[in-house]
Amino acid sequence: MLNIDLHCHSTVSDGLLTPTQLVEHAAARGVEVLALTDHDDVGGLDEARRAAAATSITLINGVEISADWRGQTLHIVGLGIDPAYPPLAQGLTSLRDGRTVRAHNIAAQLGKFGIHDSFEGASRNAGDGHLIGRMHFARFLVEQGYAKDVKSVFKKYLVKGKPGYAPHQWVPLNDAVSWIRDSGGRAVIAHPARYKLSKGALDELLLEFRAFGGEAIEVVTSSHTPEQSLLFARHSQRLGLLASRGSDFHGPGESYFDLGRMPPLPANCTPVWHDWNAMM
Ligand code: AMP
Ligand code: MN
Ligand code: MN
Ligand code: MN
Repeated sequence: MLNIDLHCHSTVSDGLLTPTQLVEHAAARGVEVLALTDHDDVGGLDEARRAAAATSITLINGVEISADWRGQTLHIVGLGIDPAYPPLAQGLTSLRDGRTVRAHNIAAQLGKFGIHDSFEGASRNAGDGHLIGRMHFARFLVEQGYAKDVKSVFKKYLVKGKPGYAPHQWVPLNDAVSWIRDSGGRAVIAHPARYKLSKGALDELLLEFRAFGGEAIEVVTSSHTPEQSLLFARHSQRLGLLASRGSDFHGPGESYFDLGRMPPLPANCTPVWHDWNAMM
């Protein structure tokens, strides 16, 4: 079976390894095909491609776009994209600019609870010129002793109803799917079980996503239980959507699955990579 991992993050977004370190980590774990899918940024792909050339890994150009559907934040992975396609590149730039505004709002919210200088702290974790996200705030809060690890930080901070939450308007789902498709890529709904949609809303989302040109859903990912993987395998089969597999690796100790170390796709799905022979 092909060892393929189509979802992970580098220091260009909120991962802990540089693109080079990430590719080396993947190669050491026997990954054969890897997609780097940083949040709202394609700035790591050139470095990852150079690093992959020194290994036997086939690198797939990827991205994970923060999108909005009826007020719900969704993550849309794009696979096989052209990172230079202007509407995609410009759209990602505006998403990153929006993240900076949101980060100031998050810092202001934390300030109300007596947690100061978090914008500066999170920015230090984000690195020069890179995007800023909640994970950078989470690591700052852990450093400051507010929680023992990032997983527990998110239970107490940074989410709706808790200190450090700032609502934000991401890009409409239709735009995210169009940027990916029109650049030659395939759009995938990341970790669909995470959105906790009712059965009716989930069906509406999947049908609307497909009508917009979306082609796949993640079936095997760190945030799915084995039961959820089987459930989304059935949804993919029922709706003629392709199935993806990705660890959503952010760094050693920060993700449930290590790179490439997830279970295989359930037997009844059509893999999102089924027709990629030309690319691989
Ligand atoms: P953002 O895109 O800035 O809103 O940040 C979302 C990121 O925060 C995700 O990609 C994860 O890396 C991280 N995250 C969100 N919720 C959790 C959680 N409950 N546990 C661990 N990490 C989380
Ligand atoms: Mn992340
Ligand atoms: Mn995600
Ligand atoms: Mn991710």
